Amino acid sequence: MSKIPQNLQTIGAEIAQYSERYHRPAHSVRLLAVSKRHPADAIREAYDCGQRAFGENYAQEMLEKAEELSALEIEWHFIGPLQSNKTKDVAATAHWVHAIDRLKIARRLSEQRPSDLPALKVCLQVNVNDEASKSGVSVAELPELAAQVSELPGIKLRGLMAIPEATHDPVQQRANFAILAKAQADLNAAGYDLDTLSMGMSDDMEAAIAEGATMVRIGTAIFGARN
Ligand SMILES: *Cc1c(COP(=O)(O)O)cnc(C)c1O
Repeated sequence: MSKIPQNLQTIGAEIAQYSERYHRPAHSVRLLAVSKRHPADAIREAYDCGQRAFGENYAQEMLEKAEELSALEIEWHFIGPLQSNKTKDVAATAHWVHAIDRLKIARRLSEQRPSDLPALKVCLQVNVNDEASKSGVSVAELPELAAQVSELPGIKLRGLMAIPEATHDPVQQRANFAILAKAQADLNAAGYDLDTLSMGMSDDMEAAIAEGATMVRIGTAIFGARN
């Protein structure tokens, strides 16, 4: 038997518990169910439990699932790295894009967003540890990118996203998430109105909630290991 309903219940309870522990307002942390490399049937099962927001990393895979599940009222979040040749499909299908770190991609999404749809909600990905191998804009370059992206009519800048370096040390996890939270606070102090911090995965959800995550991206703890 599938463990998806049980897992969703457990995660929901953990989110509520951590929110209380760190004095976050009730319902201020949303669960994004990361369904990449799991079949459409797994999404349907989570949907039947009331889950509505799903995250995908590969454009083609998201498109196929969105097509297959078009009867459901799913909110699709594209959370993977995005190449120029995939922006058109993502602009037409996704409700959110989390990992923007270049103006070029943001421009294309804005231009290609169908005019009958509301502006695409986006987050800028920040490379909080300045890791050479990681995507994301540096904290230093963030203000300029935010200024440019917020001018684009087809997309709406809602916040920041990060995938910090992997560590099991909760103190280090919190320090990394705090960098993202501070970057967002600095932008808001400069006049932005950003309300989304997309941070926290299966192994560091508590630290992310402690530091102000408003959206946690959870895959394995809901759907199990990926193939
Ligand atoms: C895969 C993925 C997740 C989910 O990771 P889990 O460890 O399975 O919870 C979250 N965010 C991004 C960007 C991912 O690619």
